Amino acid sequence: MDIIKTKAQMQEWSKKRQRESKTICFVPTMGYLHKGHISLMEKGKSLCDTLVVSIFVNPTQFGPNEDLASYPSDIENDLALAEKAGVTAVFLPTKDHIYPENFQTEINLKSLPNFLCGKFRPIHFSGVATVVTKLFNIVMPDIAVFGQKDYQQLQIIRQLTLDLDFDVKIVAGPIIREKDGLAMSSRNAYLSASQKKSALSLSKSLHLARELIAKGEKNLVTIRNQIEAFICTFPETTIEYVSFCDPETLEDTDSIENQILLALAVKVGKTRLIDNALIDPAQ
Ligand code: AMP
Repeated sequence: MDIIKTKAQMQEWSKKRQRESKTICFVPTMGYLHKGHISLMEKGKSLCDTLVVSIFVNPTQFGPNEDLASYPSDIENDLALAEKAGVTAVFLPTKDHIYPENFQTEINLKSLPNFLCGKFRPIHFSGVATVVTKLFNIVMPDIAVFGQKDYQQLQIIRQLTLDLDFDVKIVAGPIIREKDGLAMSSRNAYLSASQKKSALSLSKSLHLARELIAKGEKNLVTIRNQIEAFICTFPETTIEYVSFCDPETLEDTDSIENQILLALAVKVGKTRLIDNALIDPAQ
């Protein structure tokens, strides 16, 4: 497995693969790898000849009061996991290398960042869109794999790929969960044992919504109220949002005629957790 630290080396590596007619799949991450990341790597490996994983905690997607300074990291373990997963190259740039002095450009989308997490993390998706644009130009992949865990991010990346004419196919990977239902996340490392129990309020809410819809409940406001009341029964939880929305535009919806996205963000103690599910009311 190659470990690459500079943009020039990464581009050279990818150009060499292109000359050899090898396809490149790319999985961007912020490290502290878990089975959710590994599942994306496995998907990626099955789709291309080579697999590049980046590990970069992107400072521009963190707000001033967020967890940039404390974001968990264990590069040695990450490299061992990547190697075991069959990754061909890991791109490990530094912050100064990605954002040199006098860096000026930001990628902003007009609509998709205005909903869900974007309402609470105003600069987040501009940071994500900018770094993913840069990483696409550096790695030059044929395919890039993103997790549905970050559904809004996935939609934003699909849109920017289309808008900016990137010749990259975006592939989505399903949410990987612990046995008890908790969606895997590097941030779960912040949770105490009792907070982990409260964190289950998110995945359990998704089940509750499905159950209520299966029983014939059609009013999404009623369902949302029930979910909010349910989450509040778990200690240390603070709801940021519970939203039923259109899976394409992310605009709020009150109709269960078509597929809907239920997305939630809940703080457990100081740890902000997200989860979501696509719900097909017809089924
Ligand atoms: P992160 O390192 O948290 O920035 O995530 C890197 C990639 O892994 C993103 O595409 C995430 O959506 C994806 N990811 C994170 N957690 C999960 C999970 N539990 N299941 C599937 N994909 C995930």
